[in-house]
Amino acid sequence: MLYSSLNYLSKSESFKEAVIKGIAPDKGLYYPHEIKPLSKVIIKNLNNLSIHDIAYESIKQFIGDSIPKNKLKSIIQETLNFDFPLIKVDENNFSLELFHGPTLAFKDVGARFMARCLGFFNENYKEKITVLVATSGDTGGAVADGFYNVPGVKVVILYPKGKVSAIQEKQMTTLGGNITALEVGGVFDDCQDMVKKAFIDTQINKKIRLTSANSINVARWLPQMFYYFAGYQKASKYKLPVNFSVPSGNFGNLCAGLIAQKLGLPINHFLACTNINDSVPRYLKSGIYDPNPSVQTISNAMDVGNPSNFIRVQKVFNNDIHKLKKQVSGYSFNDNETKKCIKNIYENNKYILDPHGAIGYLGLKKFSKTNPNQIGIFLGTAHPCKFSEVVEKTIKQKIEMPKKLSKILEGEKKSIKIADYSQLKEYLLEN
Ligand SMILES: *Cc1c(COP(=O)(O)O)cnc(C)c1O
Repeated sequence: MLYSSLNYLSKSESFKEAVIKGIAPDKGLYYPHEIKPLSKVIIKNLNNLSIHDIAYESIKQFIGDSIPKNKLKSIIQETLNFDFPLIKVDENNFSLELFHGPTLAFKDVGARFMARCLGFFNENYKEKITVLVATSGDTGGAVADGFYNVPGVKVVILYPKGKVSAIQEKQMTTLGGNITALEVGGVFDDCQDMVKKAFIDTQINKKIRLTSANSINVARWLPQMFYYFAGYQKASKYKLPVNFSVPSGNFGNLCAGLIAQKLGLPINHFLACTNINDSVPRYLKSGIYDPNPSVQTISNAMDVGNPSNFIRVQKVFNNDIHKLKKQVSGYSFNDNETKKCIKNIYENNKYILDPHGAIGYLGLKKFSKTNPNQIGIFLGTAHPCKFSEVVEKTIKQKIEMPKKLSKILEGEKKSIKIADYSQLKEYLLEN
């Protein structure tokens, strides 16, 4: 399988090269040359297959010769070592809880898969690969945990000082080993800008091999399709059309669902749900893509003004907005609506939503008004305790913290403070 850059100015690459490069030299995102549907037999027998078998069947064409069959199978086994429960929230709507991995974020799936691929590709190299990543919170923890102790790979995470939650900070700063956290005096955009600068800095690139671990990397993006199969499998017993509602920021998650559908998973419809950073829902209404600068909200993992994977979403439909609109509806909700929803669902349905999942649920409620008698699945992208400040205040109730998180809170924070790009550069060149 070859990947081409969506800017079409760089040469096509294998999965391996696309993963190692992260982004094409022309700054385009990599996209697979072709997507062949799974055989009808597999789709018909979905319920008899394990999630590991489905994952293997669905991703093997995207890996091609880059990873041998048995190695790929073991990478999948290790990646998917936790479950994705489908929890009934109301009559027809369900939460697909993706937050039972080590850092309680759906990003664990992509990060664990990518870490193992990169570890394999780098086995025989003498030279280390450095994964450089900027985070507003959840990516940092998932990447740190996923890449911890992967031989030959060093991870450098930039996060904005004082702008991530206590849990998120501990997840990035307590592991040590091959994981380094740089605490940046600034906001997320400053971290992101520094990372972008480093990627095009010739002095740095002459000396070290850098790659990214954001959802622009195909090894983080594609495995996210696995849990759409898992959710569909669990919902199929209701014998009704199944819709997926995806709380979206950079749109990697939604785009992975679209790939699952292209492979033949009979998903009826997608809901692209955002907070007030609504560039994509506005586009779906007006046909004009006019991204705004990002605005801070309580669902902060989705505070993205110009989603990096939007170009892939368009590509899935050959850049035909009419086809896109047939499959995907857009909704956006503000913080007040989100809080009200968290409160209502807690009081009436005894289910605790996090602010991101709540936006997915709100989308389903709106959609089902004109589309009754269908199953709605929203992706539960993070455990509510990761956003406990907002959620506890809203439901006026303490949230129980899972044991694996309480343990992380006991670790000692170690970070290096940096103020500007020259300090990042110095760090990268000297370490
Ligand atoms: C990253 C994240 C999202 C957004 O996912 P995208 O793939 O960027 O659209 C949603 N919710 C949570 C909790 C996240 O961490």
